[in-house]
Amino acid sequence: MLIRLKDQDGQILWDAQVHNHGMCSLMLANIAERMQSQFDNFQGGYTEESRTLTVSGEAVGSVDVGFYGPYSYSEVDLAFLKRLNQLLLIAAVLSMAIVAILGLVIARQLTGPITRAIQTTSRIANGHYTDRITEEKGPREIADLTESINGLAESLGRQETLRKQLTNDVAHELRTPLAVLQSHLEAMIDGTWQADQKRLESCHGEVVRISSLVKDLEKLTQIEQGNLSLQKEAFDLQALLMRISLNFQRDFASKNVQLSIQVDPVIVQIDTDKLGQVFNNLLANALKYTNPGGSVRVYTRVVKHQVAVSIADTGIGIAPEDLVQIFERFYRADKSRTRETGGSGIGLAIVKSIVEAHGGLVTVKSQLGQGSVFQVTLPLE
Ligand code: ADP
Repeated sequence: MLIRLKDQDGQILWDAQVHNHGMCSLMLANIAERMQSQFDNFQGGYTEESRTLTVSGEAVGSVDVGFYGPYSYSEVDLAFLKRLNQLLLIAAVLSMAIVAILGLVIARQLTGPITRAIQTTSRIANGHYTDRITEEKGPREIADLTESINGLAESLGRQETLRKQLTNDVAHELRTPLAVLQSHLEAMIDGTWQADQKRLESCHGEVVRISSLVKDLEKLTQIEQGNLSLQKEAFDLQALLMRISLNFQRDFASKNVQLSIQVDPVIVQIDTDKLGQVFNNLLANALKYTNPGGSVRVYTRVVKHQVAVSIADTGIGIAPEDLVQIFERFYRADKSRTRETGGSGIGLAIVKSIVEAHGGLVTVKSQLGQGSVFQVTLPLE
């Protein structure tokens, strides 16, 4: 700064320019050159500002301060600015590199499992239902994705097994009546047998059995398909059980089997038509397999978040070796006997399918000659 000091009359007391003109001009030229060379189009120049000097509030003179403005930088300032710019540039480059590396790592973490998931799903789609994705690392979303793909594979596998099993079962069930029919008809055609009424009736019986089997099969397929979309509503289980047992009262009375109902009101979320079918089948079986003079008891029990409906009979009971397979379709504990009663072994398969579609469970306890207890457990929502 170039200082000029004046007294109150405006007389110059001291002036830097007068004191050392050469030095001042050199200094200003230096600054101008530095600023001009550093900043293109720098619009700066020499400026002077005047200030009054006071002592105890009384003006005693003034000082003119001349400087290169509006601003100027010293060598040190410029060096500092240059260094700062360099550091900022390094920081920018470094952060860009870090972001790129991080992005690559995250992308690889995501694309790896996704690529593997795509490979496995296409294998599953080609029928390899036992294939599973095993992804231990990765974000939660990937874990969810692999879990649902594995679940999908499992359910596809289960359906495939069911389909094969069904085809097998159907073929097996149809083979016997068809073979009987074929041999009887062949014997009648080649004249070994007379086509008398008794033989024709026997053939008719087989045809009736086949058509009833096909009907049952249709029903099972219908139920299993319907289970995919249950029409659930809040319903009182007591009302449902009372209504169904009322329909059975006459049949029980005519067979001389006692029917007693001990159920409390309990609201459950159910598809009433389908669950009605469940209790219908269980009560029909209880009646079918209980001899006259016996009894059937229906009762409910609420435990924690579940309600258990039991249908207990004092009927013929089920042998332990049959118990495990009783819910399989076409399974009949005593084929010759149940053939007489007209059962095709579909009823309990339907029961199991509907109950499981409701998130419930059906179990059976039985003792041969003593009776059986079928228990349907449903979740209380
Ligand atoms: P079905 O139409 O033959 O009755 P189900 O699937 O309803 O077919 O039952 C399968 C088999 O389970 C029956 O053939 C029968 O042997 C046995 N079963 C079912 N319920 C009872 C019961 N309450 N007491 C004794 N046996 C039963």
